[in-house]
Amino acid sequence: MKTAIQNGKIVTYKDKSEVLENHSLVIENDLIIDIISDSELNKQHPGSEIINAKGKAIFSGFANCHTHFRLTLARGIFENESPSNTPPFPGIPRKDLPGISKEEHQIMVLLGALESIKAGTTFAMEVAEGIMDYADEIQKSGLRLVIAEQMSDRMYGSYGEPGKIESDPRRVEAGIERVTNLYSKWNGYDNSRVTVGIAAHAPDMNSPHSLNEIRTIQEKLDIVSTIHLNQLWGEVQNIIDNYGTTPTKYLEQNNFLNEKLIAAHCRCMNKEEEKILGKFKATVSFNSAIAARRGLSPNIKDLDEFGCKIGMGSDNMDENMIEVMRMGMFMERVRTNHGREPHPNEVYGWATKNGYKSLGVENGGTITKGSKADLILVNLLQPHLTPQNDIVSNWVHMGQIHDVESVMVDGKWIMKDHNVLHLDEEYIINEANKIAKKAWS
Ligand SMILES: [Zn+2]
Repeated sequence: MKTAIQNGKIVTYKDKSEVLENHSLVIENDLIIDIISDSELNKQHPGSEIINAKGKAIFSGFANCHTHFRLTLARGIFENESPSNTPPFPGIPRKDLPGISKEEHQIMVLLGALESIKAGTTFAMEVAEGIMDYADEIQKSGLRLVIAEQMSDRMYGSYGEPGKIESDPRRVEAGIERVTNLYSKWNGYDNSRVTVGIAAHAPDMNSPHSLNEIRTIQEKLDIVSTIHLNQLWGEVQNIIDNYGTTPTKYLEQNNFLNEKLIAAHCRCMNKEEEKILGKFKATVSFNSAIAARRGLSPNIKDLDEFGCKIGMGSDNMDENMIEVMRMGMFMERVRTNHGREPHPNEVYGWATKNGYKSLGVENGGTITKGSKADLILVNLLQPHLTPQNDIVSNWVHMGQIHDVESVMVDGKWIMKDHNVLHLDEEYIINEANKIAKKAWS
């Protein structure tokens, strides 16, 4: 059975976005199989189920290259507990995340998935320790996922916290076992809607032994890897104190940098490190909203010019990629003192096409023939999106979460007319409130 989305404004994207009108988007199974003029539709694809998208735009869904769904638990708290950006660096001055049960944890994760879908995300990389505990719940949302199991082996202290870094090799072994199990159970699940990745926590949380083991497994399984890199100035100081070098050079020395690496943050980084990362063609996940909250910003223009791919991520307490996209554009314009660059077209590409590619889906993140049918319908007939002189510019500058009406992943609707189909929105919101209240009290 084919589905044809008709009467909408189809936003295609190759090197830049283009808007097609009077065309139908034809979907069969998991793919966009045609974009055809309305007059040709019946001839070429008779009997297709017609979806009327009058007044709507068809955009690619977002690829969130870095998030932690369970940290919805810290919303309203961790945003305002940023570490110092100037010496001394005593560590992160904040409360620990309170312990909650496995079942409670599952609800907080679903809250993250719910917000993601409502804000137009179709693909996300979830980074955490112990994903096996909730992989089934989260995949039922219908989102496309890379589940990246995280490991660290630093015995005493936490990231950004000073002190001698000592490794507990048993934690490396346990981490490798978790990744291997997750890979056996979930990699390639449901037409490869779910794949598995591997995550080192941070340069000052992972010893050389741990980095080498992770890299070996990554190559063996041929999967994406990730790490929080140059996230905090305290981390940079830690690596200098322990290894006499900078975080990115430390990773280079331990064979960790590669083209399938997604380096999250990259904001406390010198030019030499930016060039090294570019040389390896790694992806930078520009986590703009959390960066702004921490009072920091990566040098995205330079990282891009040095050869990095630029993707975008939400990180903690926030799954709204519309805001991430907009904030990233604004931050770069302020940082570079340039009022025209980056252009919305470019930023839209970071948040969609680039993210898909970096997360391992080459034919995704674009509305083109042969691409994965991962898309969103956005209601344009609203004051803040009118007039529609340039709908990509409108979307990046003015888009809001409630503009997203429907979301499709792998050719299947997961939100239709604002109803998230596989998650019980009211139940999740009520339960999440109860869980957080109890946990933080
Ligand atoms: Zn993170």
